[in-house]
Amino acid sequence: MRISEPAPYVGRFAPSPTGPLHFGSLLAAVASYLEARQKRGQWLVRVEDIDPPREQPGATAAILTALERYGFEWDGSVSYQRASLPAHQAAIETLVAAQQAYRCGCSRKDLADAAKGPLGTIYPGTCRTRCDATETAIRVLTDDHPVAFVDGLQGPQEQRLESESGDFIILRRDRLIAYHLAVVVDDYGQQITEVIRGIDLLDSTPRQIWLQRLLGYPTPSYSHIPVVIHPDGRKLSKATGASGISPDHPRRTLVAALGALGQKPPADLRASSLTDIWRWATDHWRMSVMAGRAVISTGTSALAAPRDGGP
Ligand code: GLU
Repeated sequence: MRISEPAPYVGRFAPSPTGPLHFGSLLAAVASYLEARQKRGQWLVRVEDIDPPREQPGATAAILTALERYGFEWDGSVSYQRASLPAHQAAIETLVAAQQAYRCGCSRKDLADAAKGPLGTIYPGTCRTRCDATETAIRVLTDDHPVAFVDGLQGPQEQRLESESGDFIILRRDRLIAYHLAVVVDDYGQQITEVIRGIDLLDSTPRQIWLQRLLGYPTPSYSHIPVVIHPDGRKLSKATGASGISPDHPRRTLVAALGALGQKPPADLRASSLTDIWRWATDHWRMSVMAGRAVISTGTSALAAPRDGGP
């Protein structure tokens, strides 16, 4: 009997260059990196630069410099989502040819009266049967069977796409590729087996799984890490004072990140070298301590670390 080898572990960190790396994205980077290292897998970095209007000049360089200064070591070279545009377009054509996607000329105004749900406007299917518009987006057809998966940290999840989001956009009216389509095609192209990312993307996952099924791609494992909140309960965001992490104080910020990820680093770890901090982190990494947690409160020292002085 031949026992088949399990698929090799391939994880990734996929930042959008819409601003510098902030503490929340650092946590996604650290968690995905440590899980890949502990499993002796690969860890890829993919810059998701498919939305030029939202891009901030210099953000890609700032993110990559920060990752380097923090001592992340990725496998292969950094990939850029824009380079896989032909693959995105081919996937859209496949869906259209199979009549699983259709042109939609509805504007925001046309949808003003449509029902809203937690995922936003629920597309009522207006253009499913007919669309006379010249300027159009492309939507993928959905149905109402539950799309279910078990998240590695957040447990069983389920969504009925037709009634919760409606048919969703895969090619925007401005001809830019929509995020769900791009991420699914690229995860497949890079043979990603494990997606570890922030919980803000948990409710996007069923739409991504839906696309994987239509395109005949395997579904990777998903784990969504909790969002960081201030001790007073406010979400950590630019609006509540989270600036980009400083590339100048990687050791204390990294130790703060490990603390925020529930890893209980010893107090004196921040005095160690980056290499020793990563060694401790890989040896002690337990992602499961975050299981079932949607939020993590970070102490004031963790929040202050990226911005003031010190090692
Ligand atoms: N590019 C997305 C972001 O920066 C993350 C995509 C993903 O991890 O699937 O929010």
